[in-house]
Amino acid sequence: MVEKEASGVRRQSSVAVRKPPIRIGLASIPNSQFPIPKPDWLKVRWGGGPTFNLVEQQLRSHGLHTVCEEAMCPNRGECWSRGVATVLIMGDVCTRRCGFCAIGKGRPATLNPDEPRAVAETAAILGARYLVITSVDRDDLPDGGSAHFGACIRAVRERIGADVEALIPDFKGSRSAVETLLGARPICLAHNVETVPELYRTVRPGSFYERSLSVLRMSKDISPRTATKSNLMLGLGETRDGVLRVMDDLREAGCDGLTIGQYLAPTRGHLPVREYVHPEAFAELGQIARARGFTFVASGPLVRSSYKADEQFHGTFAP
Ligand code: SF4
Repeated sequence: MVEKEASGVRRQSSVAVRKPPIRIGLASIPNSQFPIPKPDWLKVRWGGGPTFNLVEQQLRSHGLHTVCEEAMCPNRGECWSRGVATVLIMGDVCTRRCGFCAIGKGRPATLNPDEPRAVAETAAILGARYLVITSVDRDDLPDGGSAHFGACIRAVRERIGADVEALIPDFKGSRSAVETLLGARPICLAHNVETVPELYRTVRPGSFYERSLSVLRMSKDISPRTATKSNLMLGLGETRDGVLRVMDDLREAGCDGLTIGQYLAPTRGHLPVREYVHPEAFAELGQIARARGFTFVASGPLVRSSYKADEQFHGTFAP
């Protein structure tokens, strides 16, 4: 929800709450106590201005979707105002039914063969040097959409020479699909485990924790020099020990980078937020992740997989 303040600045609504202790894992809170008031540290500026408007206009005129909008990302104002957006390819309808995600679910439309050109042209107009491309799950396609995904990556690189990070679905664990994707030479392959394995049934029905790990492992096996990255959302009822175990599993799968952010329920129809994790807890987990061998880490309440992805990749990220 967005409110307009007397100053004219639009902010996401929030209610001040007491500073909570640093801990992760409040799954025992009864459902009657939800929703929990949103803390001050999740306040964001709505954004606007000429660059924001240019991004919006170019995306619209090229018929492109973004995960920024479809997933109701709280950072849209900031990112678009910097001229950065994460393109969502292969439509805005997903074949999976994740309980946390705002992207539309159902039967997707046929692929748009002009999409690679449209993505490349938009990236060129926006002057992108590092672009994150992601997609919906396309379990209806024999290759999961990997060839189309690869075509979009190639089109951007060939048009403007930008680095492209591919935030991919699990392609049902298909090695040939991952090979196809890597053949397009993304600079980083990201695949998000999103949560601890204990919560997969409610958070990611239709997906499997081990399969997601296998995709990251496969990527390192096929293309050891391509960086890999994954993301964890906190606040869904996971425990601290569970989070640390996921870190170990990701490192075992050869994962180079990790992002950790706060889960925000897009609507009341989505999974409730079980806890707003304090920024200090995010900072501590970031330190632990670095100590466990991740070479690039971004951890904070508003961190998302694609948030300042270029800075994450180049090791200059500061929350
Ligand atoms: S963090 Fe990523 S998804 Fe969110 S607005 Fe920024 S670029 Fe878009």
